[in-house]
Order: sequence, then C-alpha cells, then structure tokens
Amino acid sequence: MAKKKLSARAARRAGDRDAEKLTRDLERLALLEPGHTPGRAIALDSPSQVEVAARSVPCPRCRGALRVQNHTAETLEGARLRVAQVVCVACGAGRRLYFRLGGAVLN
Ligand SMILES: [Zn+2]
Repeated sequence: MAKKKLSARAARRAGDRDAEKLTRDLERLALLEPGHTPGRAIALDSPSQVEVAARSVPCPRCRGALRVQNHTAETLEGARLRVAQVVCVACGAGRRLYFRLGGAVLN
C-alpha cells in the first residue's frame, strides 16, 4: 500500500503546531527562571536598577534582549514588587518581569 504523503499545507500546519508547542514549552520553562514570576522576583536595591537588571534576562523564546517599556510598583502575593513590562527586541514577544526592592532576602 502506498504511503499517503502529507500535502504541503498539512505539513505546514504540523510545523506550526510544533512551533506552538515549542513556544509553550519555552514559556513554561521561563517560569522557573528568576524574574518571570512574582515568587521568583529578582532582588534589587533601587528601582533605578530595573532596566539594567531586565537587560540581563534573555528572552525565553529566542534568547534576544528584552527592552523595558515601563515599570510600576505593584503588590503581588503579599509582596511589594516592581513589575516591568518588557518586549523582546528580536522576536517582539512581550512579557512581565518581577523585581523585589530591598536587596537579597534569605530564604
Ligand atoms: Zn525573543
């Protein structure tokens, strides 16, 4: 029996699904890295360090640089945090990064 060949369109759809799954996996992994969730907020001494610290965090999708658009003070999960709205300069993906002021806290 002849093996049914995937049409170009079906193959492209399958590729899109793979890309979407990869993006989802990368986003899930990013949540384990510092700065991507309130619980893993990066410790800073002052709000002026937010932009510098954000630049040290690579885009989880493409490892590109993140640019801070703005950052605001928010109370999340009972902690006062700086929340930076950032966008990747390479792939354009937007996300939020979390910072905690007052230096490192020992857990
Ligand atoms: Zn990116």
